Amino acid sequence: MKYKSEISPTAYCADVAGKIAREADTGSSRRGFLQVTAGGALAGLVAAAGIEFSAPRAVLAQSKLSPDAALQDLMDGNKRFASGRMTAFEQDLAILKQNTVEKQEPFASVLSCADSRVPVELVFDQTIGHIFVNRVAGNILTPEIIGSIEYGAAVLGTKVILVMGHGSCGAVKAAIYGKEVPGQISSLFPHIQPAVDQAGHDLEAAIRANAKIQAALLRESSPVISGLLKDGKVKVVAAYYDIGNGNVTLLE
Ligand SMILES: [Zn+2]
Repeated sequence: MKYKSEISPTAYCADVAGKIAREADTGSSRRGFLQVTAGGALAGLVAAAGIEFSAPRAVLAQSKLSPDAALQDLMDGNKRFASGRMTAFEQDLAILKQNTVEKQEPFASVLSCADSRVPVELVFDQTIGHIFVNRVAGNILTPEIIGSIEYGAAVLGTKVILVMGHGSCGAVKAAIYGKEVPGQISSLFPHIQPAVDQAGHDLEAAIRANAKIQAALLRESSPVISGLLKDGKVKVVAAYYDIGNGNVTLLE
């Protein structure tokens, strides 16, 4: 995508994010959270006896899913994950025997943190070829990440884009306290700062605000995504992953 010539892409993103944070503090009044959970314990995951298998779904997952149906598919997968009834492992073996080398049609795109406790395909009980995963510490929207998500949506045809923060996010925590860090770690902070400005030192609130701000930034800063949104071809949704119980909650 093209940016105004005098400012760097990073500065542009941070600037737009700040604007969005100032203008769109939706607060708790708009938290029509869709609580998608059966309250299952993660411990159940490792108990093979508790895992149910179903018939493998299509390798090319996208088919004719609407954005709403694609989102539902993700959330259904999270329900299976959180309640220890995953099916994706069974499909992996079937899919490896088929030829997916030439083509991919992921139905969803997820922007998540690089945190090792957020294994995206597992969290949504999805297998090879289903999710176009973009990961960076703090699940922030850099120009490269925007480009990657645009590729997923415009070229591969993802129907839903989930921007997902998670509990105890170290990147957000570091941005809140702004301590000195080595190398280029601090380059993450300006992207997260608008959420910190909004939520202060409340880590959980900042994590949720950050996911919402990055989602809003994606909707507004990418002509490709906003065009697809306008045509009803894609949905952009902010979400929160609870690393304690495995549940994903939609934030808007
Ligand atoms: Zn994180």
